[in-house]
Amino acid sequence: MSTKKPQGTLYIVATPIGNLGDMTARAIETLKKVDKICAEDTRNTRKLLTHFGIQADLQALHDHNEQNKIGLIKSWLDSGENIALVSDAGTPLISDPGYHVVNQLGDAYKIEPIPGASAIIAGLSVAGLPTDRFTFEGFLPAKSVGRNKALEANLTERRTQVYYESSHRIVKTIEAMLEIFGSDRKVVLARELTKMFEQIYRGDLAGLQVWIKVDRMHQKGEFVLMLAGYEQEQSTDEQSVAVESLLKILVDELPVKQAAGLAAKITGKKKNELYKLAMSLKKQSL
Ligand code: SAM
Repeated sequence: MSTKKPQGTLYIVATPIGNLGDMTARAIETLKKVDKICAEDTRNTRKLLTHFGIQADLQALHDHNEQNKIGLIKSWLDSGENIALVSDAGTPLISDPGYHVVNQLGDAYKIEPIPGASAIIAGLSVAGLPTDRFTFEGFLPAKSVGRNKALEANLTERRTQVYYESSHRIVKTIEAMLEIFGSDRKVVLARELTKMFEQIYRGDLAGLQVWIKVDRMHQKGEFVLMLAGYEQEQSTDEQSVAVESLLKILVDELPVKQAAGLAAKITGKKKNELYKLAMSLKKQSL
């Protein structure tokens, strides 16, 4: 008779994004029962565990050692140990470590989610923007060239777009969005969700730029930036569909600059906005 223990289970456990009251009963129960907890920052997770009276064998698992740790996690699971994976806040793998572990172990081992808080869902739930379809963009590239390129690629994205942003770059990101998407694109900024100084800005990009600069406190903390999709904005302006159709015809026949110039003369719309739209239409038609 074999005495080999059955394989262990890997639990992907969500933790609060700022308010300890959002820790779920299943998260506590799971973190209490597992043999090891892999955490992005063990000191940070230790504080959380102490708060809930959980003693644990904590193992570091972050972006820099994730690949190397996979073999170790495999051996623990093979020896029958149950393992939990947590990140600093929210749901692991969502702009947080864990992807490689789940990707590489998912076929051979039992992996169970213990769902809970995530800033993207918390943000969308109060944004009032369409949520039937949305894109999650995560963090934009840090450098301006990469950031602008990523934003320009979304110029005619019709779904609500969700971006994560930190206090270091929020002002620059809003400036870049204003430049690329135009002043009246609808936007919702969720700051410090679930925390004491939670704030939700709703309005357009021009208003958001004023709001973020008017008080330095508005620039602090963590942010979910949600941008209305292109179609939604255009649906309030029936002419825009015609403008886009006209521009499509012109960019097929003329250089982008000339097409935008001509369209501006015909429609009376701003040349630089039409130029950006023409660039994106050109890219789509390549
Ligand atoms: N895994 C996390 C989740 O499920 O939301 C996200 C981790 S990511 C490293 C951190 C980013 O998430 C922050 O820079 C911010 O954009 C967003 N975020 C996390 N907590 C937040 C909060 N309380 N309010 C607003 N945004 C938050």
